[in-house]
Amino acid sequence: MKVIIIGNGIAGITAARFIRKQSSHDITVISGESKYFYSRTALMYIYMGHMKYEHTKPYEDWFWEKNRINLIHGWVGKINTSQKKVNLTNGDILEYDKLVIATGSHSNMFDWLGNDLNGVQGLYSLMDLEKLELNSKDTDSAVIVGGGLIGIELAEMLHSRKKKVTLLVREDGFFRNVFPKEESEIINRHIREHGIDLKLNTELKEIKGENDRVKSVITNSGEEILSQLVGITVGVHPNIDIIKDTDIETSKGVLVNEHLETNVKDVYAIGDCVELRKTPEGRKTIEPVWYVGSMMGKCVANNICGVKEVYNPGVWYNSAKFFDIEYQTYGNVPNEIGDGLSNVYWEHENGKKCIRIAYDAQSKEVKGFNLLGIRYRQNVCIKWIEQKLSIDQVLTELSKANFDPEFTPRYEDKLAGQKV
Ligand SMILES: Cc1cc2nc3c(=O)[nH]c(=O)nc-3n(C[C@H](O)[C@H](O)[C@H](O)COP(=O)(O)OP(=O)(O)OC[C@H]3O[C@@H](n4cnc5c(N)ncnc54)[C@H](O)[C@@H]3O)c2cc1C
Repeated sequence: MKVIIIGNGIAGITAARFIRKQSSHDITVISGESKYFYSRTALMYIYMGHMKYEHTKPYEDWFWEKNRINLIHGWVGKINTSQKKVNLTNGDILEYDKLVIATGSHSNMFDWLGNDLNGVQGLYSLMDLEKLELNSKDTDSAVIVGGGLIGIELAEMLHSRKKKVTLLVREDGFFRNVFPKEESEIINRHIREHGIDLKLNTELKEIKGENDRVKSVITNSGEEILSQLVGITVGVHPNIDIIKDTDIETSKGVLVNEHLETNVKDVYAIGDCVELRKTPEGRKTIEPVWYVGSMMGKCVANNICGVKEVYNPGVWYNSAKFFDIEYQTYGNVPNEIGDGLSNVYWEHENGKKCIRIAYDAQSKEVKGFNLLGIRYRQNVCIKWIEQKLSIDQVLTELSKANFDPEFTPRYEDKLAGQKV
């Protein structure tokens, strides 16, 4: 059987590896950005000089040939599902029995005046990183638009090269559409301590240019900020470019059922480009994060190899780093606690660590954890949420979530003292 996978990110590559583990199918992975799989999450460390591109490849180059996974470095221009063919932009045509679409995301870009000027860019790909090298070479300041996970990475990257960075955030706090006020304020302070000019309640209105290059940005308050580099980090959306002219159904992403099958027989989709038709409990229909790509890759491999499996992502979790502060979240902690939820919250006097546990106000069942500057064991927190433990039980047993109790400061007694 011939399996073609479009996209060699975490989703496509996990699918290829797990199909190989279970079968002797003929596997071809086609990808335009790079021949070899690399870790997109490490892009920032390449720019900051902590890693070279070679170090971001989780597998040695010989791995693919040894495992009979055929890699094609090229772009797919068209999919013909009735003839089961894929056309590359270089003119090559390949046939498939099963097709997996794993084309990832694109950076969001809105219709701002001037957003096509040189010096305006997103941060998603190796090509974006090359652009950033060029764009940041001859400028000592940058404006970043967007208060999310990629925006703060870009701020840290440019800050590491001694650029003066201004971060424009539409909301009244960093990551405020996800964070409750207190977590957001911890990160606001932390960003400012690093010398970043964080402007809250501020939107980009227009980008001004000179000789086709960015010269300044104008904000919604009319302020003009001089800068030759504008980073646009206002989220991502599924990359469905090559699906649009096919009979594969899309909405925002490629629509798939619980087996990750599209409406067209023998065509599957996985990773960032996917939109689930049915929302799993406590999750979203589009989830552009690394481990989701990996989980979907394994699930699709099983389905292709005849082990029918339902994609079940379980309890939501995520982690990130905001300069020096680590963030972990498990389950559901909304940015406004209410709507039948209550919570306990404790913040360290240094203003850089906090723990929040959200629970159902009536049943007292624990619903989610937010942690800044403190790490808790993922399996323990997730198990408590799955087992619907009460907040009182969780507070009693909280020390079980600690890593290395001998070396890690413990704060459970502080949290237990909070009013429930
Ligand atoms: C800067 C940055 C930092 C991130 N940090 C984190 C993090 O800390 N934690 C986390 O969970 N997530 C993070 N993410 C998100 C995470 O990287 C993505 O969710 C994940 O990489 C998506 O994997 P994927 O396999 O679905 O798609 P991708 O990794 O986007 O791979 C898709 C591939 O498909 C190829 N492709 C697309 N169209 C075609 C075509 N027509 N022909 C041929 N090839 C094509 C592209 O070249 C691309 O390489 C980060 C993302 C970015 C941009």
